[in-house]
Amino acid sequence: MAMGDDGTGTAVSRSDRDDDRHEDRAARHDDGAHDDRAARRDEAVRAAVEQGLLGPATPIVGLLDVTGIRESAARLRAAFEAVVAPGTPVLHAFAVKATPLVPVLRLLHEEGIGAEVASPGELALAQAAGVPPGRTVLDSPAKTPAELREALELGIAVNADNPQELARIDGLIGSAAGRSPLGLRVNPQVGGGAIEALSTATETSKFGVALRDEGARAWVVRAYAERPWLTRLHAHTGSQGVPLPLMARGVAETYALAEEINRHVGRRQVDTIDIGGGLPVNFASDATTPTYAQYARLLRETVPGLFDGRYGLVTEFGRSLLAKHGTVVARVEYAKSAGGRPVAVTHAGVQVATRTVYVPGAWPLRVAAYDAEGRPKQGPPVVQDVAGPACFAGDLLAEARPLPLLEQGDHVAALDTGAYYFAHHYAYNSLVRPAIHGFAPDGRGGVAFATVREEQSLAEVVAESGGAHAGSLTTLGASSRR
Ligand SMILES: *Cc1c(COP(=O)(O)O)cnc(C)c1O
Repeated sequence: MAMGDDGTGTAVSRSDRDDDRHEDRAARHDDGAHDDRAARRDEAVRAAVEQGLLGPATPIVGLLDVTGIRESAARLRAAFEAVVAPGTPVLHAFAVKATPLVPVLRLLHEEGIGAEVASPGELALAQAAGVPPGRTVLDSPAKTPAELREALELGIAVNADNPQELARIDGLIGSAAGRSPLGLRVNPQVGGGAIEALSTATETSKFGVALRDEGARAWVVRAYAERPWLTRLHAHTGSQGVPLPLMARGVAETYALAEEINRHVGRRQVDTIDIGGGLPVNFASDATTPTYAQYARLLRETVPGLFDGRYGLVTEFGRSLLAKHGTVVARVEYAKSAGGRPVAVTHAGVQVATRTVYVPGAWPLRVAAYDAEGRPKQGPPVVQDVAGPACFAGDLLAEARPLPLLEQGDHVAALDTGAYYFAHHYAYNSLVRPAIHGFAPDGRGGVAFATVREEQSLAEVVAESGGAHAGSLTTLGASSRR
């Protein structure tokens, strides 16, 4: 496969790979379900073609595996239940940015998972899904006064990002009812992972209070001493590409700071630690690795004090809850050849896999080949390009990828795209947002689908592109031209 061995774009050493194999076995034990997942996906692709969700007039769809999402939510809950002291309050808040779709948030809410939001839009989605304020956490590095006021009025937990934001909260706290649990985000500066753009605990990351900067730690301790209502501490050390031990170190640093603050003020003022999200996802195979159980166990070994019942916990996982449960399926519109290399021109490209197309080294995706009926395509592997529909040469879902030779009318599936992919449409070439369907067994041996999001209409494309203001520029300044 023409992708990083571990699917994260990281160059992995041999011993890391041995670890992976070991983890793979552990994951199979913990996860058990990855073979089922591939089988469920194949059945869903077949059923989507059969039931006409995918066809010549609808050449691309997103599919979400409801069974898999429920399983991941259950595994997350079980992993932390297994390591915390009985009675410890734990809130798992799904990072809405990973999959900002209302039915997904409702499903997770039903599975006991809250919402971490980072913009007014994400808060609106969580509210539309029925996630109550008490199960919602607001982070974001650029909250406006109005956003802060609304969050405090609703009683949503807020993590302040920096001293200026804390000063804004100071000004609001008197007027608000004061139900919101409030915290401060710190950057433990433990270092970055394989993907610079997603490493939030580097020396110069834009997030939180940089703890190792001169005077910062003392400032944080003072800030808590002066504000008895500041009861939480928050850190999120990165997403995808940050190795587990580094994530655990970030949590350990945050815990040590909470202990220091509490010692300084002489009481358990910090009562909850928000450890963020960031569990990496394996994009190289169907195995779920690392698992929530592995991470929870590592945390308990690294930071035992965090699990002795003195602290409540908040987590903010995103990608690891949804990535492996989403599949983009697209028709091969044309199969051609250029410079001796076969090229399948499909309808899945930069609009649904933006990161992969622009930064293929960091974000390789597995691609599966299906025939015209949606059955797994057989045949000897042929090195070929899988191209998207956009009008620039780099719009490739996969370059020089060995797959059974794709023919016109076949289908390709971009796997593990349930987070940060088809829910993150990029409007290049005004390509329409594809429909997204959830799938689950229909109870009669088949597959049932439910609409998660409809395909964007051309009228919507026009409206969202200023259709209501067609003449606004030609008439601007018209009176002065006369
Ligand atoms: C993005 C983000 C998350 C989720 O990260 P994942 O890698 O998707 O788990 C959690 N917390 C914060 C503050 C974030 O910015």
